[in-house]
This record gives sequence, structure tokens and C-alpha cells, in this order.
Amino acid sequence: MQIGEGFLKERYLPLEAFREEHRKSIENIEEFWAEQAKVLDWFKTWEKVLDDSKAPFFRWFVGGQLNASYNALDRHVKAGKRNRAAIIWESERGETRTLTYYELYREVNRFASALKNLGVEKGDRVVIYMPLVPEVVVAMLASARIGAIHSVVFSGFSAEALATRINDARAKVVITADYLYRRGKKLNLKEIVDKALLETPSVESVVVLGREENGVNMVEGRDYDWNELLDGAERYVEPVPVESNHPLFILYTSGTTGKPKGIVHSTGGYLVYVAKTMEWAWGITESDLFWNTADVGWITGHSYLVYGPLTLGLTVMMYEGALNYPKPDRPWELIEKHGVTIFYTAPTAIRMLMRYGDEWVKKHDLSSLRLLGSVGEPINPRAWKWYYEVVGGGRCPIIDTWWQTETGGYMIYPSAGIQLPPLKPGSATFPGLGVDADVLKADGSPAEPNERGYLVINKPWPGMLLGIWGDDERYIRTYWKRFSRPDEGIWIYYPADYAMKDDEGYFWIFGRADEVLNVSGHRIGTAEIEHALVLHPAVAEAAVIGRPDEIKGEVPVAFVILKENCVPRESLKKELIDYVRETLGPIAAPAEVFFVNKLPKTRSGKIMRRVLKALASGKGLGDLSTLEDEASVEEVKKALEGFE
Ligand code: ATP
Ligand code: MG
Repeated sequence: MQIGEGFLKERYLPLEAFREEHRKSIENIEEFWAEQAKVLDWFKTWEKVLDDSKAPFFRWFVGGQLNASYNALDRHVKAGKRNRAAIIWESERGETRTLTYYELYREVNRFASALKNLGVEKGDRVVIYMPLVPEVVVAMLASARIGAIHSVVFSGFSAEALATRINDARAKVVITADYLYRRGKKLNLKEIVDKALLETPSVESVVVLGREENGVNMVEGRDYDWNELLDGAERYVEPVPVESNHPLFILYTSGTTGKPKGIVHSTGGYLVYVAKTMEWAWGITESDLFWNTADVGWITGHSYLVYGPLTLGLTVMMYEGALNYPKPDRPWELIEKHGVTIFYTAPTAIRMLMRYGDEWVKKHDLSSLRLLGSVGEPINPRAWKWYYEVVGGGRCPIIDTWWQTETGGYMIYPSAGIQLPPLKPGSATFPGLGVDADVLKADGSPAEPNERGYLVINKPWPGMLLGIWGDDERYIRTYWKRFSRPDEGIWIYYPADYAMKDDEGYFWIFGRADEVLNVSGHRIGTAEIEHALVLHPAVAEAAVIGRPDEIKGEVPVAFVILKENCVPRESLKKELIDYVRETLGPIAAPAEVFFVNKLPKTRSGKIMRRVLKALASGKGLGDLSTLEDEASVEEVKKALEGFE
């Protein structure tokens, strides 16, 4: 599909020119990234661009000094952008607030002073457990301003999951709110915090943002009201210069494949990387309104709702609430109302919105949109086409961004800000500038074009994680053992995703490496079979796992959610099996299909195939702290037992 034409004409280069630029960018990475680092204001320039002496603990811009909050706020305020909107916020209940750069600057300073008054010092950990309100950004930037390390925990997590994360980070302060609103309901967040804090000895104080008049339980000497704290705060706090590799934050991964990992990110390298990838992916300017639907509790919220846009002095839209509440056209209504130009969401949300039908979208004028984005999972071609045609009106290229909590920012994505390649539905296209990615066979040799294998990153990049909090051994084992050859000084980063490069060099991600099926010696990605199933008109969503089989080694088993108007019946199961056999071949045909109403997903919306696998094989369920809805487990159990 050739849809890049006519887009951002002034930036249009032939694809070859982009390839040449990309080749140069990875030839001398130190030179390349030193040039890019000018996107930030440094208090002191680095002494060394990349220190690899303790590989795989790579360190960028060593000796450089900077402050993240200064880069996100002070420098814009000084440059005459005081009155520009930084955040346009809307809640589920329809309240809206706009914070200019100056207002955000003022709030961050005051809150930074309040944190200092609570005894928070450089290097201390601050846990933020809040709804998606502008104060989350205030809390993050205030923490960064005084050199503290924030760890945002998604507000959908249970007391137990929160306590585990607080203890892992040994946090001194927890910042929260009294209530969270979702789907018209009110949830007492503070109650959850109180429960978590029964087992967290490191916590000295709690700050509570009050959204309602009726106060929640406050513990004398431990809990402080946000506004009361601000009363005694200074109006200006000097931003603390930190060394480039001082941790900016800890963030736990989604837990799709196992126990969440506390990923630690740097200040300098991370900020350079998110700012530059933000520019390259979207070609974003000050006249854009970027709406990223991710919660700030995930890396997508950190990098492209907070640090990327604010470092560049742009305007973001932030929405607190469910995308299909009160009506399924909530996102389209908001795009029309605010004039959103870039809409960025996850395939799980696209599939959900698609189920309601086109009329909800068509009711609205979406002509302000110029780009659409996708993140979190491989996007199945059917959802891609719907997103492109119905939401984007066939005008808006889809920027499918492959990356991870660990990578800090985008790795494989169409660089619309440099040159948009012709898009192929389901492919995240090419590695961005400065990213040396490839696909390897199991033995470590390069895969042939169109041959499936393992995605790898061959050279360090500034957005890379510093490590896993408190667990160096796990860091090395998880990312650097599989393909690296330390004896030869070769370090290859292993993201654990299964992928392919086609004969035009486009990258395709076919799911998690540990979820790849091996059927009679043939390897096939779970995503490939799922994409095929979702193309069937009766199927809304599908998840595929492998089940041990005496003869074939492993066979695919599919869990399917049908479209709203479809009745589950035996003949349909056979039809689906035949359908996959015809589209992908006999190896891919599921041995069995189960109909369910819900699939186990993480709270960020990703299918937890490991839970399906455990249920199907009767094994222990493992870490369920990130599971969104426990009812999905019962649902799958029932289906497996044959009580559909
Ligand atoms: P855990 O590592 O704890 O199992 P997780 O991998 O889901 O959780 P994240 O860092 O949030 O945690 O997600 C990164 C992963 O999401 C990638 O490794 C990849 O599998 C998947 N992913 C993200 N974006 C895309 C995309 N655009 N296309 C395909 N897969 C994607
Ligand atoms: Mg992961």
C-alpha cells in the first residue's frame, strides 16, 4: 500500500536517502548521538559519549550534568513559551483543564519544595500511585527537579502489587489521591494505599491529592494533604544538576511474560532518546495536538506523554477515563472537540472500538487528524485497515511503533518526521536512526529475508535501560546472554521478540520469543495465527498458545472471542480451523478452538498467553499481579472444561 505520498512533502526524501542516512547513523554511534544530544540543555558537557568499559552496563554522556525538569520547563519558560499549553486535560466526567508551561513550572517548583520539606533528597525513591491527572506530571517533574527517582505505579494495581513495588524500590514517600473515577464509578485509592502500607517499612510520608470535599482516612504524622503542603512551600527550587547516568526513574514492565522487572532509566541518554524519537516518528511541531491514550503508569506514558513532548516544548492531551465510556464514540468526540492532530493508542483499544461499528466514528469530524499511532502489541492487519480507513479516512498514515519499557523509546517505526516509507499493514517498517537491529537464527547467524528468527539490537543506544533495579544478574541473564559473545567483546541486546525481515527489509514482529510454537519442527509465531483468525468475519479477538503433543511436539490451540452478533456453535469451530488451514497452511491450523467472552490481559491490555498456557496444561499460574480481570481466568477454565 502506497500511502506515504503527499505527506510532509518538504521532508520527503526517496527511501534510499533515508537508508543512507540510517546507515551513517549506526556507523559511528558516538559521533551521531553526540550531535543529537544538543536537543537538551546541559549544565555541563559530557566527557565521554559512550562508556562501554563495564559492558553490558553501557553508560551514555558520562560526566555530563543536567536536570530533566529544567529541560521540560525552565528552558521553555525562559524562551518565551510561558503561555503555551503544555497539557490539555479532560476527565471522563467532562471536566477540562489546560496547564500552560508557566503554570506547570510554578506547580512543579512548589511541589518540589514540598518534597524537600518532607526530607526527600537526591537519589531517594518516590512512588507515585495516582489517577491520570495533571498532578501526576507535577509529581514526576518535581521529583526529577530535586534529583529523586520516581517510580510510577499504575493506579489500577492492587494493594499487594503496589506494596511489592514500593518494597522493591524501598521508597521513602508515596504520592496518591483520594479517589479515582472510572466508568462512572468512584474508587477510594487512599484505602488501597493504606492497605499496601501495612507492609512497607521504608515509607515515611504519604501525600494525598484531595479531589473531593469528603476527606479520606489520614494518618497523623504520616499523611499530608497536597494543598496544605504547598501552603508552606517555596515558589522556586533550584533544579539539582545530576550526572547523565543518575537514574531518572524506575518503572516495572507489564508482566506479560513473567514477574515484572524494575527497569531503571538514566537522565541524559533517556531524554536525548525520547526527544529525538518523538521528532523522528511524528515530525511533530508546535501546531500539533498529540493525544496519547496511554496511562502514565506505563513506559508509553513516561516517554511520550511526559518526557518526550515536554522536553520539546509541545502540547499533549491527557484523558482520564475509559475510551468507551460513557459512549463508544468518546475518543472521536474528543478528537473533534480539541482538534487532535495525532492520535496514539494500542491495538487492544482499536479492536475494542472496532467492535462497536463504523457509525460511531462517522458521526464525528476527524479532519484535524494527520497521523495515527499504534503501540504495545503487533497490530493485526484487519484492525490496521479499519483504523486507517474508518478512523483516518484513508488520509492518515499509521505509525506502528515497536519498542519496550527497556528500550526507553521507539526502536522500529516509520520515521514520518524524516521520510515516511510506504506502509505495510502489520509491519512496524524499519529501525529508526541510530538503531542497529537485525533478525538472527537460533544459532546466532543472520536470518535470510522472509525467514523468521529473533529480533536483536547490535549496538547500544542512549535510551537503553541502565539495568534492573537491585538485580544485575537478572539484567545480564535476560537481555545479554542469548546472543552476546563477551570473549570477543560483542554485546547483542536480546528483546525476546520473534520477528522477520522481508525481502524489502521491512520488520515484522510475530510475538514473544518464548511463545513461538514448534509444530512438527516448523516454527510459527502466535501473532501470525491470531492475525489469520481475526480476519474471519465472526472473530473479534483471538489468542493462540501451544499445547504439548506426542506426535507433533506442539500444536496450536486457539481461544476466540466472537463478534457481538455471532452465536458460538460447534460448526463454527471447524470453520475457523479450516480457515486458518487455508490462509496459513496445515501447520498453523489449531487443533482446538475454545470460545470465551474474555481473555486474560495485563492491565495495559496485552494478552497473557502464559496464563492460557498454564490453564491449558494445569500448571501453576505464576505472578498474576498485573492481570486485569480475574474473571477471565474462570472464563477460560470453564471453556477448557467444556461448559461453554
Ligand atoms: P514483560 O516484559 O514483563 O513480560 P511486556 O514485555 O509486555 O511485559 P512492555 O515493555 O510494556 O512489557 O512491552 C514491550 C513488548 O510489547 C515488546 O517486547 C513486544 O513484545 C510488544 N510490543 C510493543 N509494541 C509493539 C509493536 N508495535 N508491535 C509488536 N509488538 C509490540
Ligand atoms: Mg518485555
